[in-house]
Amino acid sequence: MKLQKPSETPALRTYFADMDKAAVGAIGERFKEFIPADRLKNLPDMPSKFESSQDLRKTYRAETGHKAPDGLTGFTRPDSPAHISVKHLAGVPETVLHERLHQMASPDAKRLLGKHYEGVTQDLAIEVLGREPQEGELTGYPVERERAHSMRKLVGSDAVCRAYFQGDAKPLKAALDRMASERPLAGMQDKIKELPPLE
Ligand SMILES: [Zn+2]
Repeated sequence: MKLQKPSETPALRTYFADMDKAAVGAIGERFKEFIPADRLKNLPDMPSKFESSQDLRKTYRAETGHKAPDGLTGFTRPDSPAHISVKHLAGVPETVLHERLHQMASPDAKRLLGKHYEGVTQDLAIEVLGREPQEGELTGYPVERERAHSMRKLVGSDAVCRAYFQGDAKPLKAALDRMASERPLAGMQDKIKELPPLE
């Protein structure tokens, strides 16, 4: 009998492929008013690759030229398939959503959202997943996600989604200006300082 890695089990392969398709569908459905139609078009033809953590680290090095960071569960480069580790099966759906969101983000999102970019990606992923990470479960960017979640509540989800998916920071900037003029309180000023740099 030949022992197989989980990633080589046919049933799991099908499960991953179905989940990958479902993730693209769910993100497209939830954020359809924000995602430009042409960006969604090619994603189903570019399925994510599910790899052992060892293979993931190898592909990361090959594609980025850098050593993979510790605990890497997935990565995506622009216009190429996402790579997902199958080491922790329970975390795979969250990682797929996170990486697929990166693919659907505007090329300007990272620059516009700055230090909030990963946190916003994770906050949107958990929203689509529809389930908060439970105590003791592995989850990506928990601290960044918490900050991004507060920021999204503060300025409104639409403003964040416009910047994230459309690269349009005007609504975010308008929300910031409005808050500064309406509530010039010390606590608010602290919150405003947490906002990303805007252009
Ligand atoms: Zn990410």
